[in-house]
Amino acid sequence: MVPALKDFVYTASPARVIFGVGSLAQLPREIELLGARRALVLCTPEQTGEAERVAAAIGAHAAGIFARAVMHVPIETAQEARQMARKLGADCAVAVGGGSTTGLGKAIALDSGLPVLAIPTTYAGSEMTPIYGLTEGGLKRTGKDMRVLPRTVIYDPNLTLRLPISLTVTSGINAIAHAAEGLYAQDGNPIMELIAEEGIRAMAAALPVLKREPTDIEARSQALYAAWLCGTVLGNVGMALHHKLCHTLGGSFNLPHAEVHTVVLPHVIAYNARSTPSAMGRLSRALRSETPAAALYDLGRDNGAPYSLRDLGMQQIDLDRAADIAVSNPYWNPRQVTRDGIRDVLQHAWEGTRPE
Ligand code: NAD
Repeated sequence: MVPALKDFVYTASPARVIFGVGSLAQLPREIELLGARRALVLCTPEQTGEAERVAAAIGAHAAGIFARAVMHVPIETAQEARQMARKLGADCAVAVGGGSTTGLGKAIALDSGLPVLAIPTTYAGSEMTPIYGLTEGGLKRTGKDMRVLPRTVIYDPNLTLRLPISLTVTSGINAIAHAAEGLYAQDGNPIMELIAEEGIRAMAAALPVLKREPTDIEARSQALYAAWLCGTVLGNVGMALHHKLCHTLGGSFNLPHAEVHTVVLPHVIAYNARSTPSAMGRLSRALRSETPAAALYDLGRDNGAPYSLRDLGMQQIDLDRAADIAVSNPYWNPRQVTRDGIRDVLQHAWEGTRPE
């Protein structure tokens, strides 16, 4: 029997993608194509060396470096970077780094409309989304605005060769989480399903190779390609229980972003499995396993990632409060989200049990 095709709306995002080993060399031309002449380079303090190399490659069109990007974009940091951009007369922001640095570029774009050129060095996928986050008074507010979607993205696998293997694995599973939830999104469409399945397949194949050989350039290329695909899914369709739960845990209990995604994902997939047979079919194909929740758990654990919230430092006593917060704002999920259901998911994730 031919499966029924549901009605859908598909809007392509306008970002231009330059992909390839050594593609960083195309940066000066890409800045010119944006019509820009004064680029402010953004990075975290740890990636200052990378940003200096990028600024040197840009040459006369580099206006300066702002090297103070940090996790979750505190409003104070965003304001300092916006001020520096204004003072230097910058007409574009070049974000070299992971989701934190891209997020800072987005904060500048939100305020000024400056185009962002992203050069991702993790697999978080923020460069493919119009979603921004800003933290004020300890509270992270997220929003959606097309002005913050990077206009050009350069994916150069060379820049990921030194990504520590622990972050490689957790960031890779963070990417898989976007695609996995995209497979059962309420506003999903068949194009995103194709992209999601291919993204999961490529990432799941690359991570074990990278665990053995972190500088394998073919595997680095596959992982970055997968990150692009998974980020595209995140940018195009709505997420559900997994992302809401990780947002709660990261924001309210200050747990690390990619690690939380890695620990929680298998348990949410197990929770949603019976309500999403078609998504589970695609996940099974991508992971080459009849039990996708267990396969995701193994992918993390077997490659050295943390697999329990306990290991991430969460206290068992906080699980009730986390469940309360997670059900306080209703949202769509393929299976009804109940307080008891979430509490169970959290208990499994805290203990680190292998789902069926
Ligand atoms: P990150 O950007 O915070 O980077 C983590 C650390 O790794 C930093 O110290 C960074 O300098 C370092 N690093 C990054 N790439 C490296 C490399 N190649 N080699 C060596 N060190 C490297 O981590 P992340 O997981 O990429 O991003 C997490 C943040 O991004 C969170 O705040 C999350 O909410 C946000 N995010 C936003 C979106 C969105 O669509 N808005 C999507 C995904 C993530």
